[in-house]
Amino acid sequence: GATIGIIGGGQLGRMLAAAAARLGYETVVLDPQPDCPAAQLASSQIVGAYDDRAALAALADRADVVTYEFENVPVAAARALAERLAVLPPPKALEIAQDRLTEKTFLNGAGISTARHFAVDSDADLAAALDRLGGSGVLKTRRLGYDGKGQRVLRGLAAADCRGLFDAMGGVPLILEQLVDFSFEFSVIAARGADGTGHAYDPPRNEHRNGILRRSIVPAGLDPSTLAGARKAAFALMDALDYVGVVGVEFFAIADGGFLVNEFAPRVHNTGHWTDAACAVSQFEQHIRAVAGLPLGNPGRHSNAVMENLIGAEIDDATDLMRQPGAVLTLYGKAETRPGRKMGHVTRLAPLSAKG
Ligand code: ATP
Ligand code: MG
Ligand code: MG
Repeated sequence: GATIGIIGGGQLGRMLAAAAARLGYETVVLDPQPDCPAAQLASSQIVGAYDDRAALAALADRADVVTYEFENVPVAAARALAERLAVLPPPKALEIAQDRLTEKTFLNGAGISTARHFAVDSDADLAAALDRLGGSGVLKTRRLGYDGKGQRVLRGLAAADCRGLFDAMGGVPLILEQLVDFSFEFSVIAARGADGTGHAYDPPRNEHRNGILRRSIVPAGLDPSTLAGARKAAFALMDALDYVGVVGVEFFAIADGGFLVNEFAPRVHNTGHWTDAACAVSQFEQHIRAVAGLPLGNPGRHSNAVMENLIGAEIDDATDLMRQPGAVLTLYGKAETRPGRKMGHVTRLAPLSAKG
């Protein structure tokens, strides 16, 4: 049988490996941690760093196609692999998504609106950008942030207040974004097949706490024109990249049915975990189908769903959750519980009534 290489062995890699196995594929996971969550479910693991040439060569030897579960795969590694075998989604998607400034420039170029933003490489840049945004904004590192790490919300700041902030953020390239007064957040989990056909799941409404996704609720209650516009944006983004695989696109819903894209992740997405319980074909299977060149599945859902992350010690509630009817529990097998760490998730289902 064919073998799918997966770069990254976290919970997303684990759920991709499970979906691949169900379709009869072997998987080989590259991750530096021997006891990573995906190791239990993958057919095999290469223990090594993501930029380790020997490890990457071994991955290329063993896999027929390579995909990835996180957006910070070194672009040089992805490009080197792509000279030997298919790397999907294309490395270009990684390159763009890894830098919040490049990402927004790309989105705006594809006709997709984002928050107003400015590159910040000094305290003086920050003062000037804050002035343009009326004294408030969200200051973020351009690279490597996740779960709201590397971000600071600024309100009512004057130029003098900016002194030292650039260094306090680590002295790395930053972006200042307009502080969006959103009414709620939602996301589009979509897939594009090798033949260019696109499919999207119903968007969930997403709630965050301390920068971390708390829950996703489906349906989101979007009005039809917002829904159509958001889907169109997700498909335009994928077409522009000649994308193959699943993408997660995060949106801010703003006044009058409008929306802005916050960011996109070139991979399966936490706000798509509910699909595993509420759809015949989950985002994980959809992604495996896409990268394996198989027909994509129907993204329709059989149930309404509320997915909640189990973060840190919340994992201790898992046994109680098992007693709840309609609760579908997924645990990531992480050896160590840490505050703020995603340990599992639970999806509560409310089946749509069957007609007839
Ligand atoms: P993820 O784990 O989703 O990759 P991240 O660290 O990349 O997170 P963002 O998605 O940029 O961070 O921001 C995290 C959350 O912070 C957003 O979902 C939103 O709730 C809030 N946020 C981010 N940017 C803005 C903004 N410009 N205006 C208002 N709220 C924002
Ligand atoms: Mg992000
Ligand atoms: Mg985000």
